[in-house]
Amino acid sequence: MLVHSQRRPYHETNAGGNASPLRKRGAAQLLPYMLTNDQALELIHQYGECFVAWATDENAILAVHPIPRNASATDQVAALGQMRTDYPGPTVGRFLSAENCTLETLTGQQREIERVARRKRVLRSWESLDNGGLIGLLCGATPFSAPMDARQDSWHLVERLYKSRGPSLTDAQLDQLEKFANQKVRQEGWLSTALSLQCYLAALRNAPEDLVALWRRHRNSGALFYGWTAFTEAAGDLAITDPDILDRFISTVEKSIFGFKVEAMIALGKIGPPAGMRAARVIQYTIHDSAEWVTALRDRALHRIQSRPSEWKTCPDCFHGYADRPDADLPVSARCPACLGYGHVPKEETSSTPP
Ligand SMILES: [Zn+2]
Repeated sequence: MLVHSQRRPYHETNAGGNASPLRKRGAAQLLPYMLTNDQALELIHQYGECFVAWATDENAILAVHPIPRNASATDQVAALGQMRTDYPGPTVGRFLSAENCTLETLTGQQREIERVARRKRVLRSWESLDNGGLIGLLCGATPFSAPMDARQDSWHLVERLYKSRGPSLTDAQLDQLEKFANQKVRQEGWLSTALSLQCYLAALRNAPEDLVALWRRHRNSGALFYGWTAFTEAAGDLAITDPDILDRFISTVEKSIFGFKVEAMIALGKIGPPAGMRAARVIQYTIHDSAEWVTALRDRALHRIQSRPSEWKTCPDCFHGYADRPDADLPVSARCPACLGYGHVPKEETSSTPP
């Protein structure tokens, strides 16, 4: 068990010492610097407006930080900046107001933390299933009972089936998934999962014409927004050259919000020279030097577009630039460090994986 007996309770930082006596009441089961719900509620009512932080691994309140009432946004941010953030475990926070916070609010948050922890355990356990097992979960009649969430977890399964299991799926399994996607795409609440699956299936079947058909069917309805990440990824993985789709990606790099910009830039970089010099120009003047990883991604996209395809080879470390992250809290794919997520490496560059 963790012992941090020398640590001051976190809430003292901003409480001016007033909260100190609370620490010793009825908190025997908690780490010394954590608060019971009763103690936290007392502080919340004392402060009025607060930011409350929970240690999710202990499922207990770590801190109640006062936020000045009627303060400007700048002062509120300054107040948040005073928070101590050196807790070594995972945390979650919420703004709470004394006017509508009761003991039930705090116990409700604890129930949600517990549900999320149970959900993560289930997601990790799914990794030991074979492809048929994962497909059975996705397509089963009632696969998503509590603590799971149908929308989130069906999408999770679709992403894992493509990015982690894609190369090992059989034709029969692709057929089963296609039938499922075609049924679900018209069912309320399933659009995002079903559309994403249709995009990934086009990539798995190496059928750019299927993805272009999907684009033409949905481009004016706005429906593709619900599967936009998967559509962008599949278009890059298939090296789509449809001018209308390329135009959309270029205008996304130029005008959209940061996350979509990066996705579209990676797709254009995967596509390479067919993305065209206009794509390179827009990437050059839109994606500025900032964080190291952003600059590296931009430079790699430009290199891909401005060089000959014969200068590149398929990255040996990943599938289309997706690589599992063994250190992650949840089973997820991330951009492969060897190819920065582009799925190709320069021929003269050696793999990052030791022989
Ligand atoms: Zn790679």
